[in-house]
Amino acid sequence: MSEERTPDPPADSLDRLSAVGADALVRMRSFISDVALPRVEAFERERPDIAFALESDGRLDESVYALKLEMQQLSAAAGLYCPHLAPPDGLGLGLVDCMHVQEEVFRHGIRGQQWALAWTEGPSPIVRHWNAAARDQILPDFLAGRTAVCLALTEPEVGSDFPALGTTATADGAGWRLTGEKHLITGAPQAEFAQVFARVDDAPRGELTCFLISLDSAGVRRGPVQQTIMADGQTGSFSLRDVWVDETALVGEIGGGQALAFEWINWARTRRGGMAAGLGRHCVNAAVDYAHERKAYGRPIVELGSVGALLADMVIDLETLRALALELLGRLDARGTVLGDAVSAADRRDVSILKSYCDDTLYRIADSAIQVQGGRGLLTTTGLEKIFRVARNLKIPAGTAEVQRAIIARSLEASGSDHP
Ligand SMILES: Cc1cc2nc3c(=O)[nH]c(=O)nc-3n(C[C@H](O)[C@H](O)[C@H](O)COP(=O)(O)OP(=O)(O)OC[C@H]3O[C@@H](n4cnc5c(N)ncnc54)[C@H](O)[C@@H]3O)c2cc1C
Repeated sequence: MSEERTPDPPADSLDRLSAVGADALVRMRSFISDVALPRVEAFERERPDIAFALESDGRLDESVYALKLEMQQLSAAAGLYCPHLAPPDGLGLGLVDCMHVQEEVFRHGIRGQQWALAWTEGPSPIVRHWNAAARDQILPDFLAGRTAVCLALTEPEVGSDFPALGTTATADGAGWRLTGEKHLITGAPQAEFAQVFARVDDAPRGELTCFLISLDSAGVRRGPVQQTIMADGQTGSFSLRDVWVDETALVGEIGGGQALAFEWINWARTRRGGMAAGLGRHCVNAAVDYAHERKAYGRPIVELGSVGALLADMVIDLETLRALALELLGRLDARGTVLGDAVSAADRRDVSILKSYCDDTLYRIADSAIQVQGGRGLLTTTGLEKIFRVARNLKIPAGTAEVQRAIIARSLEASGSDHP
């Protein structure tokens, strides 16, 4: 198999890991090979093509969602589901440590084993802001992978400009009444809870407040699945009409929600390094293997100059994205502020460079992998076209490609001689 032929991560980068990170990487490697992949392979024997496995209402097929929950719970039981969270919720890994663990998970493609790691609607660093009631009643199942809690900023009228969001929270007795519309929310069709961002009592632009609510609350109506290019039935909308919540729903401080939103967004951006490096390696391995096996005009296609050039460009892309991600995540780890309360201009710039470069580069690599495999690369059963569709998607959520460029440009002005 290609994974054995191309060790990952390369041994020369392992000395960057902390002792806990190295241990987590070894344990994740065993978990993926001994637990996750056998489970995925058994599932694939029953459901050979799950690329578009959806219920009639567009939600992810029940059996695939059950696989997702099982993977989360098995990983949580092994202590690997939330390595990014501080103890006792997780392992307290830094960003470089996390990148290696993510890379290990994603180098097998997107077959179901990727659910071993908490992702967008899983426990994020902002659980540290949850109050005692939420930590007591909701967090245990969330950390164990049994429930999902989506994060809802985006509305039909506001996306990139989320500080201008229009959902309101109006004081009413010992709590608030929430009204508004959320859309394009990962996990909304299935999640039990949502972290909803709203403006309290006519708060000005940017003065947001986060509320943790049950999506079964009176006044919440889930909209239809919003099927994206990924066709995975996991993106959706919901509306809130006078949804009453008490103070136990509050996450952080009233008016402190924008910082929480950025903490979550920056966490999502930092994950792009490991995800893109892992998926990129999977694509490179698949393309190289095929180029050696497939013959045309009497010889393996790897010997055809233009195919060789495609492969070479893929490897250049993979090596540069991995090296850049390690460099930037190492800088962010050293500063230690990107997921805290004092995010600097340099942090914002480095995260945006990371996100843009990884998104753009993975997209090119996935495109080339399909090209090398010809028509076979477009078959859903090879898994490459799924990675290509996911890679195309990545350029929009957690800040579009254009927004990243705007952040980078602004940070250059703000940091003066600090920039390269
Ligand atoms: C699959 C998927 C999952 C998502 N998951 C979530 C989720 O879990 N939670 C959540 O809250 N949201 C989620 N989103 C929403 C996502 O964050 C937004 O789609 C994104 O922020 C862009 O907002 P928009 O779609 O409204 O586009 P707009 O903001 O309207 O952008 C339209 C165009 O204008 C450009 N533009 C906007 N502002 C600027 C600027 N300042 N400088 C330069 N160009 C700019 C954009 O780059 C884009 O080209 C998800 C979206 C998708 C597709």
